[in-house]
Amino acid sequence: MKKRIAIFGSTGSIGTQALDVIESNPDTFEVEILTAHNNDELLIQQALKFNPNAVVIVDEKKYAKVKEALASTDVKVFAGESSLEDVAGFDSYDLMLAAIVGFAGLKPTLKAIENGKTIALANKETLVVAGDVVMQMAVEKRVPVIPVDSEHSAIFQCLVGESRNPIEKIILTASGGPFLGRKPNYLVNVKREHALQHPNWSMGTKITIDSATLMNKGLEMIEAKWLFNLEPDQVQVVIHPQSIIHSMVQFQDGSIKAQMGLPDMKLPIQYAMAFPQRISNNFPRFDFTKSSQLSFEAPDLKTFRNLALATEALNKGGNLPCIMNAANELAVWAFLRNRIGFLDMTNVIEQTMEKITFINEPTLEEYLESDGEARNYAASLIQL
Ligand code: NAD
Ligand code: MG
Repeated sequence: MKKRIAIFGSTGSIGTQALDVIESNPDTFEVEILTAHNNDELLIQQALKFNPNAVVIVDEKKYAKVKEALASTDVKVFAGESSLEDVAGFDSYDLMLAAIVGFAGLKPTLKAIENGKTIALANKETLVVAGDVVMQMAVEKRVPVIPVDSEHSAIFQCLVGESRNPIEKIILTASGGPFLGRKPNYLVNVKREHALQHPNWSMGTKITIDSATLMNKGLEMIEAKWLFNLEPDQVQVVIHPQSIIHSMVQFQDGSIKAQMGLPDMKLPIQYAMAFPQRISNNFPRFDFTKSSQLSFEAPDLKTFRNLALATEALNKGGNLPCIMNAANELAVWAFLRNRIGFLDMTNVIEQTMEKITFINEPTLEEYLESDGEARNYAASLIQL
């Protein structure tokens, strides 16, 4: 039996790489659902190639074009944001690859969990916004949430066979991004094009900026807390510029397990979709004899203040990570449009975190409200 895959965010960096994995393993996987925000042309191309049961184009203005292009097929076409949740409620798939970027991924993922579907989770913002709600529902519905994020996939892989052994701490590795070693006097002048050049990974624009500010690692600390049920002080970040060790787990006896390999998202994507199986492939292999060094250092929290803000959000919990995430989404959006500078992003996030009312144990409704309030406040700071 083939695993029927629903890719939410199929036109993105993760989505397209997942389709490459599926194309290479036609006996293992088939495509059931594809969704895109507004890239109608790529969605049409993907649908013609993979013949899914259904596609969603969120931008309703593009519906007619997609519908017409797929008229000769039996692919069902839906449009609009609410269609994402509708198709997440379908019976006809086995696994959702949650690869939408940002807060927009939360509701469809919750719907899939409610629907009892296994989740391969790339969309870290889902856990940052409402990790307790998401993981509690996953436990109630007995739904596995398998990480796709390379660090969390590494930790997940290190934990296989260790279910009775408590974790002392996890060590999240970070490349440090394109501005490793730089100071604020340099960062103040950084522009979009420069920040989009990541040394080791090719990714969507939002996560690439998050990697340059180290907010990505902050989001990942919170993601790790929820995925692996950790206390904040069990999560450590270490800069490892070569991105060969994808992350590590330290157990109670002090022993540390690491998962390693060349930086290539196809591996964690394939691992999450095929789990518990490993599938052979011809991805390039890491060669120890050709690598002169693997190095490690502490992150510079004074320069990369987003990581300090995220640590505060992790420690305080409640709706603070949700507020931080919303402000960050707005700040990155504005930076990508040259509306604010690189360091302004941190100020917007910090001021929004101070302004919006803290709630210790929010309901899902309260998370959604906090997200909206934080977006409005951040937008007012940026004068959008
Ligand atoms: P991307 O920008 O390349 O793609 C995003 C996808 O989401 C696209 O298909 C787009 O159509 C869709 N989308 C965007 N906004 C939407 C909205 N409002 N409603 C519905 N769909 C929307 O992003 P990406 O780099 O593929 O990242 C996707 C997620 O995976 C992010 O949460 C990111 O943090 C995470 N992730 C990505 C990588 C990577 O290597 N790219 C690695 C680890 C984790
Ligand atoms: Mg990552």
